[in-house]
Amino acid sequence: MKCRLSLLAVISFTLLAATDPKEPAVVTAGVAGSPPSDAIVLFDGKDLSAWKSEDGTPSKWAVTDGYAEMRGKSILTRQEFGSIQLHIEWASPAEVKGEGQGRGNSGVYFQGRYEIQVLDSWRNKTYFNGQASAFYGHNAPLVNASRKPGEWQAYDIIFHPPTPSAEGKIVPGSFTVFHNGVLVQDHIPISGDATTSAKFSGATPTGPLMLQDHGNPVRYRNIWLRKLD
Ligand code: MG
Repeated sequence: MKCRLSLLAVISFTLLAATDPKEPAVVTAGVAGSPPSDAIVLFDGKDLSAWKSEDGTPSKWAVTDGYAEMRGKSILTRQEFGSIQLHIEWASPAEVKGEGQGRGNSGVYFQGRYEIQVLDSWRNKTYFNGQASAFYGHNAPLVNASRKPGEWQAYDIIFHPPTPSAEGKIVPGSFTVFHNGVLVQDHIPISGDATTSAKFSGATPTGPLMLQDHGNPVRYRNIWLRKLD
């Protein structure tokens, strides 16, 4: 009996090994949110050369002490991306001004169109699918994991874009989001029309990341991503 079981184990191991397509690449992991070895670093605290203003001119956001602060116009990456794993850190202003959507509002836009909300949601009520880490206008976070105004917060986001199918329909993409290490969006579908701006529709294979100007001096640092396609 024992011999037969061992033989079965060898056969199943051999079959599994034969169907395994390739050895996973070796990646050196980062420490405490720093980028792993295969990451594309979009902002390391020194310059915003990977970004441009909406009108194509260089970013005018202020860069000091390892962070960038919003100044007047949204900025987009020069490079375009499809499916990605993104790490980004942000801080709303320490001095609280305004309320609801007027308090520490910005946003991380995937392909320039699907927004994960950035907002000071520390004891600041607004509509639920518009608070921090919401898939803006579509899905509230599972919990509110916000830190206090002025404190650094982190998003770790896995994004897959909607894609056209062979039948001419759109296959939904998905968002999975961790806010300060806490799961807040659990593989939420993204339909092609789930954009924050009505000027977009349909699906596109790649697009830029965008950090939103919503009139508040929100800060960003340590921005990197890994391409997943
Ligand atoms: Mg916003």
